[in-house]
Amino acid sequence: MLDRTGNVHIPLQYIKGVGPKRAAALGEIEIHEVTDLFHYYPRGYLDRSQIVRISDLRAHLAKREPVTIIAEVIRQEARRVRKSNRLLFLLNVKDESGFLTCVWFEGYQWYKDAFEIGELLALSAVPTLDKTGRPQFVHPQFDRLKSVEEDEPDWGKLFNTGGIIPKYRSGADLEKAGLDSRGFRRIIRNALKSYINSITETLPEGILKKYSLIPLKDAVRAVHFPESFQELEQARARLKFEELFFLQLILAIRKNISKLEVRGFHYAAAGKLSNQLIESLPFKLTDAQKRVWKEIENDFHSAYPMNRLLQGDVGSGKTIIALLAALRAMENGLQAAFMAPTEILAGQHYQTITQFLQEMPVNVRLLIGGQRKKLREDIMEDIRAGNAQLVVGTHALVEGKVEFARLGLVIVDEQHRFGVLQRAELREKGINPDVLVMTATPIPRTLAMTLYGDLDVSVIDQLPSSRIPIRTGLRTEKEKPKIFDFIRQEIRKGRQAYIVFPLIEESEKIDLKAAIQEYEYLQKEVFQEFRLGLLHGRMKTEEKDAVMQKFTKNEYQILVTTTVIEVGIDIPNATIMLVENAERFGLSQLHQLRGRVGRGAEQSYCILIANYGWYEKPQRGRTGEDVVEQKALAARRLETMASTTDGFKIAEVDLQLRGPGEFFGTRQSGIPELKIADLAADTEIVVAARKEAFAMIHDDPQLRHPDHACVRNQFEIKFKSVLELGKIG
Ligand code: ADP
Ligand code: MG
Repeated sequence: MLDRTGNVHIPLQYIKGVGPKRAAALGEIEIHEVTDLFHYYPRGYLDRSQIVRISDLRAHLAKREPVTIIAEVIRQEARRVRKSNRLLFLLNVKDESGFLTCVWFEGYQWYKDAFEIGELLALSAVPTLDKTGRPQFVHPQFDRLKSVEEDEPDWGKLFNTGGIIPKYRSGADLEKAGLDSRGFRRIIRNALKSYINSITETLPEGILKKYSLIPLKDAVRAVHFPESFQELEQARARLKFEELFFLQLILAIRKNISKLEVRGFHYAAAGKLSNQLIESLPFKLTDAQKRVWKEIENDFHSAYPMNRLLQGDVGSGKTIIALLAALRAMENGLQAAFMAPTEILAGQHYQTITQFLQEMPVNVRLLIGGQRKKLREDIMEDIRAGNAQLVVGTHALVEGKVEFARLGLVIVDEQHRFGVLQRAELREKGINPDVLVMTATPIPRTLAMTLYGDLDVSVIDQLPSSRIPIRTGLRTEKEKPKIFDFIRQEIRKGRQAYIVFPLIEESEKIDLKAAIQEYEYLQKEVFQEFRLGLLHGRMKTEEKDAVMQKFTKNEYQILVTTTVIEVGIDIPNATIMLVENAERFGLSQLHQLRGRVGRGAEQSYCILIANYGWYEKPQRGRTGEDVVEQKALAARRLETMASTTDGFKIAEVDLQLRGPGEFFGTRQSGIPELKIADLAADTEIVVAARKEAFAMIHDDPQLRHPDHACVRNQFEIKFKSVLELGKIG
């Protein structure tokens, strides 16, 4: 139970009520020991003061706010809606004051097995009236309290003492193991009873005092079983601070380490080639581009290697900035590497770049996975000898074999596809190269400060003025003939179109088949007069290239594709983006897709076809509540797309809908998932935690001071792997 560093690890099976089966189910959600369970925070709380009697619901109608009742299940019923032939699910419940019917329009398949007669539920919804004028709950949220014959202390407590009951997130597999919300309550209560004293403090006294934070032990107890809402707030504040503090500590350490590196080479002041490029451009750089270029130039003359994030919405013109930086490196006798997330994109960048650099005495090479062996070897040799001055590629560039003679600059396009790992790997290939990371995911500055806390941030916050805003429409399947007519018209005017199909991992095969079938149908039945290309991830590199070439040359008027075109592709003549099953795409994905059009001088259109029926197909691990929630989320995403083209606004909604963890792709970024803090909402705590963490690392980089022992200890338990990932041991 003790590890190398003397920390206690208590196996889950020591807890009363947890056997091998439950331990395994918990393991699936990364709960491996008692500490993990302690930090499995409730997703919400039930509060007696919010509970109303069924007979009082009428009085709450006008307020249009959710209320909670506690009631017993007495009957369930299926009803078929004649018009749509759909099944409704009805649940009749009662409390001591009366009866109520709950209705679900969706998810019948799931709900029909979800409840037991006699089961006691807490149900929350905004009460409405049914056709006969009686109050009803539509799609209530529910929490299981206990079965009637079971005696759970929570239940008595709720009514007798006005307690607050925690609600836990569960799932189909957990429920099967008896770990619904109620099951979690029971085992967490047991765990706290036996092992609360194993919780040791993780923050120094000074910080606790300064921010009036309660001890960790009290916070953990209170976040699960608070005596009052005030106590709950204190507990949450403490746990949020803790979480953000350790996050910032990682960033502080990373930044500290990068400042230990010394710049390996010095740039001459003049920039002949880069200036020549600026002059030869068919357009003028925007003010934002000029400003960012200046910031990068300054980095080249600083004492430390560049570590910069370049943020700029789709189409803001990041590529040209990267190219300027690459030229500057080349004219100083260094090599530059330009990495794109996909081979298609690398190919595109290569073409754009060679075009821009036509007149310049520089040697640019493309290195991607699918190339023939002979060619590959030739290119690798060119890189090793230093003849290749700019190398464009995918992450194949960072994989083992490639050796650079004098790598001075690494450019990473579309950072959210790249992990910390690759960045670190690549860095090791040169002598502390400058690193420029580009992303089209607009992130509010305070958040960027957290996520990329170890990078300097530049923002291109302006689009070239020549752009015409894209028009976006939400449509349904039924309107397709009209949409196809419209596409036909546009193509006759000389334009081109993308038609995009979703492809998700779980149902990849089926999705791919559907896309291919649809492509054949479109070519044969709908757009006979045009030529259609098909592009998907399963094709070989050469095939993909050939298709892209033809589309670029307008030999294909329509490109039918799965999401491989998502990032970065630049074909100004393509003005229509039709997205099928748009409800299945994420918001930033849609934004990226839409960014493929609106790049030329013509009016562009983005047409999103929604088909919510998709959500009702039964899927493993999906509950009825999920179905309702996912549909609502999908609708929000599409409405957002229709209402704005502003990448920052879209990113904010995306952040709200998905939560920071998924939004940032934390797994890829090497930053631990946040469980309780909210990067968007808890800005004040972020700022405070950041200040303390950076100050601590500044004063005591190794955390050797006795006051910091608790921090060091906690850090080693939690984040060892993160540090190793970032190559900072
Ligand atoms: P992104 O930031 O999405 O990577 P790109 O770098 O691909 O955007 O630029 C999009 C298009 O805009 C390209 O065709 C590029 O040549 C063009 N472009 C870049 N800067 C400007 C500018 N200042 N004025 C007009 N067009 C520009
Ligand atoms: Mg780009």
